[in-house]
Amino acid sequence: MERNKKRFETEVVHTGYDSSHYQGSLTPPLFQTSTFTFENAAQGEKRFAGQEEGYIYSRLGNPTVKVLEDRIMTLEHGEGALAFGSGMAAVSAVLFHLLKSGDHVVCSRGVYGCTFGLLEMMEKKFSITHEYADMSSEELLRQAITENTACIYVETPINPTMECIDLKMVCQVAMELEIPVVVDNTFSSPYLQNPIKLGADFVLHSATKYICGHGDVVGGLLVGKSAEEMQEIRMTTQKDIGGIMSPFDAWLLIRGIKTLAVRMDRHCDNAEKIASYLKAHSMVKAIHYPGDADHPSFRMAKDQMKRPGGILSFEINGTKEMAQAFMDELNMIKIAVSLGDAETLIQHPSTMTHSVVPPEVRAKMGITDSLLRLSVGLESWEDICEDLEQAFKKVEKRAVQMQ
Ligand code: PLP
Repeated sequence: MERNKKRFETEVVHTGYDSSHYQGSLTPPLFQTSTFTFENAAQGEKRFAGQEEGYIYSRLGNPTVKVLEDRIMTLEHGEGALAFGSGMAAVSAVLFHLLKSGDHVVCSRGVYGCTFGLLEMMEKKFSITHEYADMSSEELLRQAITENTACIYVETPINPTMECIDLKMVCQVAMELEIPVVVDNTFSSPYLQNPIKLGADFVLHSATKYICGHGDVVGGLLVGKSAEEMQEIRMTTQKDIGGIMSPFDAWLLIRGIKTLAVRMDRHCDNAEKIASYLKAHSMVKAIHYPGDADHPSFRMAKDQMKRPGGILSFEINGTKEMAQAFMDELNMIKIAVSLGDAETLIQHPSTMTHSVVPPEVRAKMGITDSLLRLSVGLESWEDICEDLEQAFKKVEKRAVQMQ
């Protein structure tokens, strides 16, 4: 097969697009159209009957969106891919595809807050139960699986504590028991980790994050290892629920993804520096960064990921109020949820991304009120450190004055 012959850095730039089909246009054209005309009624009939290839209506497929789908499919080593209007549309499409009433989901101990919300909703409305399992050992994973388990859903590294899960182990157990595995690979991007290569059935991304890289798109991508199953999702959950990506967003993502490899290396380089700085700081109680030799997932991350990524979280030596005051004192670093952008972003998980998670569950997930998550951007790492340092100094001074 032609595919996968080139290196990642080349695939992100070229795969899925042949300029000779589009009058030599270097960049893929934007097919900003809702529908496609047929030459005659017979052609329309054939396309609807699946007897002739070609576009019908942009909810079922669009040439600009297809470039992005083909590219991510190759980067994630799958056989089919679909683009969605958000990461959550991709999460819900794959879960609706795999699950029915009475089924059970085994889920990693931490997941993105809205995935948590979706699982809660599925339990209440459709009696699809779930369990947050400690997947740190095969034994614990097996204990969580029931005869009704129809999906294992994993996020690794887990947001925001950056615990990593052994995907090979999870996929081996799942394969033996014939349970499909879905991996949310948003935090790693396909540059750092490829779950399908490790045995997963589906991998998904909030493309809003590293794949976009510029903070100007909300989008989702789903890749599957079976072309037939992905086509089924295209013609059922995606078509009928309708959470598709717009051609313009796909066009922006094609532009963003071209620089994924260089951006990821820079994010990783910067995160390494910031992690060392924070670890040595007197106002920091703990850091959670899988590239730190003291992090419980240090070994796992080394084995499973190309590099430990650009996200880290840290606990301030103090109260929730101090953590929030620290954020308010930052100048260059922006207070915002989302991640993977050029700008360094900071957020407070217990009152922001994970505020929907009940406090007792948050406590089990290791999300304290003094925990802050940093998405390390592409700026000079010295400037990032200087901004953190001036904010630490101000908060420290205020704490001393109050004593
Ligand atoms: N998965 C993870 C790990 C995320 O961080 C997010 C969003 O922050 C999502 C899924 C949902 O993606 P979106 O916001 O694009 O719907």
